[in-house]
Amino acid sequence: MGRKTTDHWQRQTKAVHAGTRRSQYGEMSEALYLTQGFRYETAEEAEARFIEITGDAFIYARYGNPTVAMFEDKIAALEGVEAGFATASGMAAVNGALMALLKAGDHVVASRALFGSCLYIIEDILRRFHVEVTLVDGRDLAAWETAIRPDTAVVFLESISNPTLEVIDLPAVVRLAHAQGAKVIVDNVFATPSYSYAVEAGADLIVYSTTKHIDGQGRCLGGVILGARELIRGPVEAYMKHTGGAMSPFNAWVMLKSLDTMDLRVRVQCETAAQLANALHGHEKLAQVIYPHHPSHPQYDLARSLCTKGGTVFAIDVVGGKEAAFTFLNALEIFTISNNFADSKSIVTHPGTTTHQRLTDEHRARLGITSGLIRVSCGLEDSEDLQRDLLQALARIKP
Ligand SMILES: *Cc1c(COP(=O)(O)O)cnc(C)c1O
Repeated sequence: MGRKTTDHWQRQTKAVHAGTRRSQYGEMSEALYLTQGFRYETAEEAEARFIEITGDAFIYARYGNPTVAMFEDKIAALEGVEAGFATASGMAAVNGALMALLKAGDHVVASRALFGSCLYIIEDILRRFHVEVTLVDGRDLAAWETAIRPDTAVVFLESISNPTLEVIDLPAVVRLAHAQGAKVIVDNVFATPSYSYAVEAGADLIVYSTTKHIDGQGRCLGGVILGARELIRGPVEAYMKHTGGAMSPFNAWVMLKSLDTMDLRVRVQCETAAQLANALHGHEKLAQVIYPHHPSHPQYDLARSLCTKGGTVFAIDVVGGKEAAFTFLNALEIFTISNNFADSKSIVTHPGTTTHQRLTDEHRARLGITSGLIRVSCGLEDSEDLQRDLLQALARIKP
């Protein structure tokens, strides 16, 4: 299997060609190696591989597989990092990144506005293993500075939070963390892998749920942990390969093929989100439209300075709370009610009664999740059709 050096290529060329390993058949489309194990020519070869895995050698799919490796190499090339480890889901990646770097007695600082399952790992699981956790308001740099201590091992955050789209000053938080010797793990889903600024900001590990923009078509679960070779092939791989969170070769093949078109898809989805957020701003049935690249966003300047695009998701706060929100959701004809996002199909989610239902009223209020809040994920449909759909559904809310 031959591989090319692709460092000098532009992004879209890497998206199509990076990481490709061709078999002796010279296939055009990357092969799906649906195999758990690998055959050794001799007992000596088996022994040698268990001592050290080099080059294109594999021993077991929980450790690595050629299709999974092609996906890891391509996404690492796109992110601009040395290495990646692909995982069974985004949560396997978040869990793996944290567990790989932490031990009992360590201190973790994390932003409070987190995806529900990330919050569960940070608040419940880590504490059970005697990791001390401090949660901060991610927008407040002074709070980060106070919370990060000399014994802080890891800082964990979502660069842009779900579902309220708070933007964290990632370069500044990384500087504070590194000054105390802490490593920074960024869950970068909302910033998207197409417009990521996590490497420039100095993040140590970058985590994606590949279920979102990378698959982008609502099919497979997956995740990936990205970073320097020393961390990925060191503690991350050691933890992941022995605890069994590897990505399946089939899912890796779907993700790999999806990377060819990811930037094209995500660019259009971002443009649609910006257009719709703009069109809805100031609507009489809405208390608020939240989009990082809309001038009304409280962190508009920061968002503009960090990210090229404002993302594929925006949020609206419907006047009239849950009842009005449900009327609106049920009246939509193109948007689908679901809890995933970054699909080619546009999706609306009512976080208060679904993804964040588990939280208390007070906790939801602290995160800005009101009863009228709806998360809108923009797909690949015609943006004018989507705009008409949102407006007709808003018109159905009684004044
Ligand atoms: C979806 C998501 C996850 C979890 O990913 P799964 O693939 O569903 O396990 C973690 N973090 C963020 C920010 C997400 O959006």
